[in-house]
Amino acid sequence: MSVTQTFTGTICNHCNFKFAEVLKGCPSCGSESTEKVDLKENGTIHSFTVVYVGFGHMATRAPYVLAIVQTEENVKLTTVIEGVTDFSTVKIGDKVRFKGTDEKIGPVFQY
Ligand SMILES: [Zn+2]
Repeated sequence: MSVTQTFTGTICNHCNFKFAEVLKGCPSCGSESTEKVDLKENGTIHSFTVVYVGFGHMATRAPYVLAIVQTEENVKLTTVIEGVTDFSTVKIGDKVRFKGTDEKIGPVFQY
């Protein structure tokens, strides 16, 4: 896994919608006037599931926590929460923070 320190997303210059992918078009209004933005590292778990059987390059990672994390600026993204040893402790609303960017799956979070 290659790790980078910045958590890069995109902001739309037209409607100010922020999202966690680096895209050329805004998924909210369709504008192509977007630019990269650094997103806040802190977030909360909005929803999650524990994946016991992963497929493809995720097979060796399972079991793992797959979560929708909402950052401080209300950007939601689907991500993996790393470093969880007891899955029964994971709760909606838990505070997590950006750990790094995995070249295959994108941003990864941790407690
Ligand atoms: Zn937009």
